[in-house]
Amino acid sequence: MKTKFFSLLILTYSLSLNAQLESRREIKIPDIPGYLTLKCDFHMHTVFSDGLVWPTLRVDEAWREGLDVIAISDHIEYHPHEDDIPVNFGRTFEIAKPRAEMYGIIIIQAAEITRQMPPGHYNCLFLEDVAELDQPDFWEAINAAKNQGAFIMWNHPGWRQEDEIPIWYDDHTKLYEQGYMHGMEIVNGRSYYPLALEWCVEKNITIFGNTDVHSSIGMDYDLSLNDQRPITLVFATDRSKEAVKEALFDGRTVVYSGDMLIGKEEFLKPLFNRSVELVNTDLDISSGGTFNIQIQNKSEIPYYLVSTEQPEGLEYPEKITLYAERTVMMRLRISRGTASNVSGIRLPYTVKNLLTNRDTGLPVELVISTPAMK
Ligand SMILES: [Zn+2]
Ligand SMILES: [Zn+2]
Repeated sequence: MKTKFFSLLILTYSLSLNAQLESRREIKIPDIPGYLTLKCDFHMHTVFSDGLVWPTLRVDEAWREGLDVIAISDHIEYHPHEDDIPVNFGRTFEIAKPRAEMYGIIIIQAAEITRQMPPGHYNCLFLEDVAELDQPDFWEAINAAKNQGAFIMWNHPGWRQEDEIPIWYDDHTKLYEQGYMHGMEIVNGRSYYPLALEWCVEKNITIFGNTDVHSSIGMDYDLSLNDQRPITLVFATDRSKEAVKEALFDGRTVVYSGDMLIGKEEFLKPLFNRSVELVNTDLDISSGGTFNIQIQNKSEIPYYLVSTEQPEGLEYPEKITLYAERTVMMRLRISRGTASNVSGIRLPYTVKNLLTNRDTGLPVELVISTPAMK
């Protein structure tokens, strides 16, 4: 009896030691003035539709990969595992919720309305009752979501279209005009739809980058090779479901995919400015000369800068890569007289991998000023 108790103790001890070994990667992207930058994935599946994993595993993966918010959006109309896993709307959320609470992950009840194109697939977020969306008629299904106050997003608009170029059908005009299209995926897994981005900019639709993962995340993305899942950054006033909902309806998102950030200038600019800092700011540039400027990038995203114009009297690199979490040295030559009567000099660049629209990089300025002039 005594031995049994002892071995049980050892077992418990080693289990708790193993539990301690779990670790989370922190995504190094700064908050911006007035908002927290929450890392989110609003589209994934489990065995309750055509996914291959149990709902709690989605929470474990999200925690490990530094996410703050997830939505599991099993299909309403498609259940290939139903002989083994009975159709049970809302069960995914019920199973995953306690796990999410344990890890401090915000989980949003969701489902994917799944129809042929057009109209296509729609994720409905912040649902109260998933079963109500199980309607033969598409418009009744989407209306059931809207009646629950759901945020509705057009998923993977280029899916099964030629070259993945999305087509805007009459159904989409109706959805948009009648207030059923609040968001759109411009990135789904490894697909990017630049035309969808153009539509979102033009029509003020909230943009998303989600995984739509069906297998375990480790099967689709190899973190050891720095191969990361796409993420939607949400700028929320606090860390709560309500604040996330408010931010989505207000269009406060940026898509993070590969080493690209895509979104409105009002969010990309502060992300860049909070990431990048000039290290040696004690330079007296007023009489000109050659200076070594150290620029630190504290974020995990490399920034690829290309100069847009070279102001007179200044010589500096046309291209700079601000490597992730590193400091780079830039040589700047200032002709005599150029900086004698100004409060500082501005070096205009475009960040090629921060996009405000299709092929449109973010304009930024590196500002060099003398200490007395700050
Ligand atoms: Zn889908
Ligand atoms: Zn899906």
